[in-house]
Amino acid sequence: MVEARGIRKRFGFHEVLKGIDLQVRTGEVLCLIGPSGSGKSTFLRCINHLERADGGELRVDGELVGYREKGGKLYELREKDIAARRRTIGMVFQRFNLFPHLTALENVMEAPVRVLRTPRAQAATEARELLTRVGLAGKYDAYPATLSGGQQQRVAIARALAMRPRLMLFDEPTSALDPELVGEVLDVMRQLAADGMTMVVVTHEMGFAREVGDTLVFMDDGVVVEAGDPREVLGNPQHERTRSFLSKVL
Ligand code: ATP
Ligand code: MG
Repeated sequence: MVEARGIRKRFGFHEVLKGIDLQVRTGEVLCLIGPSGSGKSTFLRCINHLERADGGELRVDGELVGYREKGGKLYELREKDIAARRRTIGMVFQRFNLFPHLTALENVMEAPVRVLRTPRAQAATEARELLTRVGLAGKYDAYPATLSGGQQQRVAIARALAMRPRLMLFDEPTSALDPELVGEVLDVMRQLAADGMTMVVVTHEMGFAREVGDTLVFMDDGVVVEAGDPREVLGNPQHERTRSFLSKVL
């Protein structure tokens, strides 16, 4: 589903990604860990066309990110093609970014109605199903400000799912939450993984990575230092940098 080969990205003189290679198969969960500034968010943003890689080859669902292949030639994607591809990828951020003036239900309905032109009644039915799935059946009419951080983040997940994504990207979805609210969000993500969603998750939750992740990737300073079965990487790290990082977070 995601194939990255030699992905490079620089901001000015600062090379943030120095050749990232990794693969996520359909239905797999890949967890990405690493120190602050190692390039985790930048890599996620490249997958979702929010940043353009400077080098390497990135494919999502077999299609080159940023380019279209035709007759053996490469053409840059146009804005509307980028928008179309981005629609098939859901993204959940540390901050929930809900529309404050819309209820939970309206937040979830918004993109299907506006972008996919789903009829309102149908979008509302689907939004209720999604909110129920994330444990918010009683909160359809609540405004974001009246919801806890964990509830808001679950609305944000339902909102991403409303676009029926083939791939979900999570960038530290629980980092802004009070500790007692982390579990309810991880439970929703765990269920999503069990339902077969392909996911890339940047996280500091090593328990989640160990239980739910098919692969754990440790990034440092723009490179993949170590990748493999989460239990192996966490239990028996092969590199000094991995050991040193894990000793600080475990
Ligand atoms: P964190 O754990 O703190 O979220 P990260 O691993 O997600 O870190 P990135 O956000 O990908 O790291 O940032 C990697 C580096 O790239 C950082 O040094 C950051 O300052 C820099 N960077 C990111 N985005 C930009 C930008 N738009 N312009 C310039 N520099 C940037
Ligand atoms: Mg980040």
